[in-house]
Amino acid sequence: MSRDYQAEHRARADDLGLRQTSIGSCPRRLAGKRHVLGECWCESRLNDHGRRYRRTRDDKPIVMWEPYDAYGRDLTEVISAAEADGLRVHISGASPWNPGGTFCIAFIPQSGGPDAA
Ligand SMILES: [Zn+2]
Repeated sequence: MSRDYQAEHRARADDLGLRQTSIGSCPRRLAGKRHVLGECWCESRLNDHGRRYRRTRDDKPIVMWEPYDAYGRDLTEVISAAEADGLRVHISGASPWNPGGTFCIAFIPQSGGPDAA
């Protein structure tokens, strides 16, 4: 019997207080902006295992990417673009996809407040 990686991922995200709501991974939508096919910064190589969630503690929507690694330049580009679109960025090692192998980049709407990450 093959492992259901998607189900395991959702279960680990649940444990971290994140309920997956879609596989939409464009953070710009959190800021009410459009995804622009072929030009959007969400097409970064850092967008691996991108999913949209709601945090169970406050029901805030967030988008989380879970890459295996990152070059500083890619991170800088993504963080600058996200902030320019009015999103906050939080980076954490608590990654539900492959714990210990990936890290997560969370994009949070500004309205989430300073302690929302
Ligand atoms: Zn996009």
